[in-house]
Amino acid sequence: MSRERLYLFDTTLRDGAQTNGVDFTLADKFAIARMLDELGIDYVEAGYPGANPIDTEFFAERRPARAKITAFGMTRRPGRSTSNDPGLAALLAAEADAVCFVAKSWDYHVRVALETTAEENLASIRDSVRAAKAKGREVLLDCEHFFDGYKANPAYALACAKAAYDEGARWVVLCDTNGGTLPHEVENIVGEVCKQIPGDHVGIHAHNDTEQAVANSLAAVRAGARQIQGTLNGLGERCGNANLVSIIPTLKLKSEFSEKFDVGVPDEQLHSLAHVSHALDEMLNRASDRHAPYVGESAFATKAGIHASAIMKDPATYEHVAPERVGNKRKLLVSDQSGRSNLLAELDRIGFVVDKDDPRLARLLDEVKEREAIGYAYEAADASFELLARRLLGKVPRYFEVEKFDVSVEQRINAKGERVTVSMAVVKVKVGDDILISAAEGNGPVNALDLALRKDLGKYQSYITGLELTDYRVRILNAGTEAVTRVLIESADETGDHWTTIGVSSNIIDASFQALMDSIVYKLVKSGAPA
Ligand SMILES: [Zn+2]
Repeated sequence: MSRERLYLFDTTLRDGAQTNGVDFTLADKFAIARMLDELGIDYVEAGYPGANPIDTEFFAERRPARAKITAFGMTRRPGRSTSNDPGLAALLAAEADAVCFVAKSWDYHVRVALETTAEENLASIRDSVRAAKAKGREVLLDCEHFFDGYKANPAYALACAKAAYDEGARWVVLCDTNGGTLPHEVENIVGEVCKQIPGDHVGIHAHNDTEQAVANSLAAVRAGARQIQGTLNGLGERCGNANLVSIIPTLKLKSEFSEKFDVGVPDEQLHSLAHVSHALDEMLNRASDRHAPYVGESAFATKAGIHASAIMKDPATYEHVAPERVGNKRKLLVSDQSGRSNLLAELDRIGFVVDKDDPRLARLLDEVKEREAIGYAYEAADASFELLARRLLGKVPRYFEVEKFDVSVEQRINAKGERVTVSMAVVKVKVGDDILISAAEGNGPVNALDLALRKDLGKYQSYITGLELTDYRVRILNAGTEAVTRVLIESADETGDHWTTIGVSSNIIDASFQALMDSIVYKLVKSGAPA
């Protein structure tokens, strides 16, 4: 049976850019567009030319891409002609393959927000589609508030969609702008629309306000829609847009969809999905969601010992898909519940060959348990676990020693009369026979300590230049009788690798110091620095 084509439309660079705290530079935009193009996305909506300088510049010239680069903008304003609307002119001047217009499709919004008549709104849709087609662009229409509009006035919502389709728009996209529609409603309404407009011209644009944007997108496909709009990692304002990182593997790996549909993302690109997801987080300087479906670090992590031994016999026993398909990996957690099988599997993963009867294994397991009892959490800190294992098995060189460090925090009034806090750290390190003393100021004591530690490691300095701290998390816990501080530090390097280290102490500086040291030593081991 021949499969139908399902199209993927990414709006990370347009709707995703509405996310709180997200500001893409022009270089970011080019990099993300390239990544999406390589992944095999059909349409990359890159911005709103004319609305801001970065987006206008993005569309100033055309760059080769397999994906259709799409410019977003409004239909002509009410009461104007298409030739007398500067917004529309900027949109049509953009060097884009496709133009995606947004128009209101809820009569209430047309009256109240747009302050125009239902008929003028329809005329604006028709005129705008015609003008963009005349410029040789493929045309899409985002029907804003379509589902709420349909519930209030189905005839008018449909009329808006039909106006665009009849005028030759390639796609009419039904938007759940407020994100409150549920999957069964989406399925019903899209089914009704597809009786009027062929499904291979209908798209779905779902927001995640009830955590169902992915489910709503799939429901729309079941009802006949053949284009899905979404963003990487579900980026988007409020609760985000439909997450393409979850949708793509579902379409490709679940037989309900994979037997009926082809998508533009080939199998070999599916393997890069975890990387694409993490690369975006990296660009945004955000920690990746460990629990993200398919691509999260914990997505294929198993804790209990009994499961671990089953997984080693046959992974399918506890996994809904093979992690390698999406570029992720299986992870068996070493934790206070773990048995020998977890420990062995984990050692195997980090490249240790240990005889399963090696008496040192029992020591390592005891050590892990003892440390977890006082607050360490190795399942969250794989790099520290690896170092602990390597140390007990005698395989970590003593690259350097911190003989002492001193951290100070000073608060004072500066010359402008403002209260400022300055932290300073001094570190004395012994590398071979050399004693090196470094000092650094930082925006906090841990930052100062980190900068001072990494300032001069003598002959090892070149191995750690690409090391970067990407996340720092502190938790106060009650372990045993007293409160202790647990610090988790996430680091990355020039190869794109990430790792997490841990420190636990009643003193936050001391806990941070342990985690910082582990991170540096891990990087030296990883880089093959000589002892
Ligand atoms: Zn949206």
